[in-house]
Amino acid sequence: MGEERQDAKKRWVVKIVKSAKKNHKICPYLDRRTNQCFLMLTMKNQQGKCDREGKFDGCPVFLEFLDKVYDSYHEKGKNPPSDFQDVVNTVV
Ligand code: SF4
Repeated sequence: MGEERQDAKKRWVVKIVKSAKKNHKICPYLDRRTNQCFLMLTMKNQQGKCDREGKFDGCPVFLEFLDKVYDSYHEKGKNPPSDFQDVVNTVV
């Protein structure tokens, strides 16, 4: 992957994390009842507990998800959304 695309992706991820923090105090992928992480299930097909109490800023699973979302838009030749609310239900 080119450096330019890597930089663009990093900038996008920073923007989306900021946007997510505006609307979510706790990670939207956390099942508060069971403490399970939905992303581990949808993205990795495995059950996994959140060990961060829903603090998604800096969470490697959350960041991996955004990474994949960016790539999937890029592969389709589309611009990724600029608001987390348009990303939240994406399945990668
Ligand atoms: S592990 Fe990360 S992505 Fe999963 S629920 Fe916890 S904070 Fe969210």
